[in-house]
Amino acid sequence: MIKIKEYFTNLSLQRKWMLTSSAVIFISYAIICIVVYVSLHTWLLNDEGSKVKRTKDDVVSFLESQGPNISVQQLQQNTGLLKSIVDRDQTVRLFNNDGIEILRINNASQAAPLTPMGSIVQMTIDKKDAYVVNEPLQLGFFQVYIQVIHPLTRFESLMRYLLTAMLIAGVGALLLSGSIGYYLANYLTKPLHALRASMKTVMDQGFNEPIQLSYTSHDEIGDLLKMYNAMMNELQISFAQQQQFVADASHELRTPIQAIEGHLSLLKRWGKDDPAILEESIETSLTEITRMRKMIEELLELARREEKDEMSEANPIYVIDSVIAEMELLHPTAKITLSKIGEIGPVFITSNALSQIVRNIVENAIRYCEKVPEVNISLLTLDDKLQIQIADNGIGIAEQNLPYIFDRFYRVDEARNRQIGGTGLGLSISKMLLEKYNASVEVKSEENVGTVFLLRMPLKY
Ligand code: ADP
Repeated sequence: MIKIKEYFTNLSLQRKWMLTSSAVIFISYAIICIVVYVSLHTWLLNDEGSKVKRTKDDVVSFLESQGPNISVQQLQQNTGLLKSIVDRDQTVRLFNNDGIEILRINNASQAAPLTPMGSIVQMTIDKKDAYVVNEPLQLGFFQVYIQVIHPLTRFESLMRYLLTAMLIAGVGALLLSGSIGYYLANYLTKPLHALRASMKTVMDQGFNEPIQLSYTSHDEIGDLLKMYNAMMNELQISFAQQQQFVADASHELRTPIQAIEGHLSLLKRWGKDDPAILEESIETSLTEITRMRKMIEELLELARREEKDEMSEANPIYVIDSVIAEMELLHPTAKITLSKIGEIGPVFITSNALSQIVRNIVENAIRYCEKVPEVNISLLTLDDKLQIQIADNGIGIAEQNLPYIFDRFYRVDEARNRQIGGTGLGLSISKMLLEKYNASVEVKSEENVGTVFLLRMPLKY
């Protein structure tokens, strides 16, 4: 039993499915057959019993109706009517007190013992089953015994026929349930096989191959595959981002490292004794190290991708006011203004994310400006969104460069911007945060006139 259980546990899902469904269908069929067979057997056997009783009663009534003066000879000469009462396969005998047969209607069976009296019993006569009933009867002045033998051959052949038909249908049902079970199991496990194959591909080849599962039904397996697809796509994206991150980081950090390395070897060779070279090298190295630190911090910020908090809420006026205060401290010459039209409600974003987005844009507005920087921030509620407009009077961005400013490490004029000291990551961080909170950004710019950033973010209700 334990071995069967172990064998069944280790079978493939498809086989388990097939065996279980076949077994269930077959057992149900067998139970129905047994119930039908037993009920029919009982019902037909009862019917056979009533036939014997009826024949006996009819014969007894006939004999009694002949009056007390009837003789055995008269009866023997006039069996025609009795024959019409008795079925052809039944045999009726009359015995006298000494047990000698005095009358016989039909001769389908040999005589049976005269006991017991009164009740219908099943006996085997001449190797055949039959119902026998014996009963004493007063015929005129004589005591006689009537015996009715009713063979069960017709009943038995009917039951044999029924059993054969049920067995043949049973084998058919077993084959049919087996094939239906196999087809069903095959049909239902097909998507699971596809899922397994896809997982194996990912295991063997990583995320290089696109994940494609074509099962589209809206059932439990369909839901599972949809979730698997979504999960794998998410993993594929973060895997690609991770690869991109490592490639970007190693590429971008190489430049400041090379610069520091260059200055240190310069100092080692002949700069140690020259205070001017020493000063300049230390200064440049420090600047590059600061740049590297900023870049690492920003790269980590991009890589962190915290989970979105559905409860996030920020007060835009409060957040933007503190960013302005911070910027004015860092860039005292800059003129930053904030204006609002109508009531401004809270927005769906964390205060931290909102201040980081606004800070990146305002800082760029001040840094990429060759005049006295003027930054105008205005707030406006439009439908269910807050629109934040940040306009500057900076150097502007050429139209052909606009589509790329949100890309990682993208800088319009690398040589000039290097002195300004950016990393090319600020706007990509802002974009990532905006997308996380279902906000959008639009940029319009004109060279030597200025740039306008238009942010739209959902209001919090
Ligand atoms: P960075 O650290 O270089 O400022 P960002 O991602 O913040 O990186 O910006 C990408 C590039 O877009 C900048 O290098 C700059 O060339 C350009 N840029 C961004 N904002 C402005 C602006 N307000 N005016 C002009 N150029 C801008």
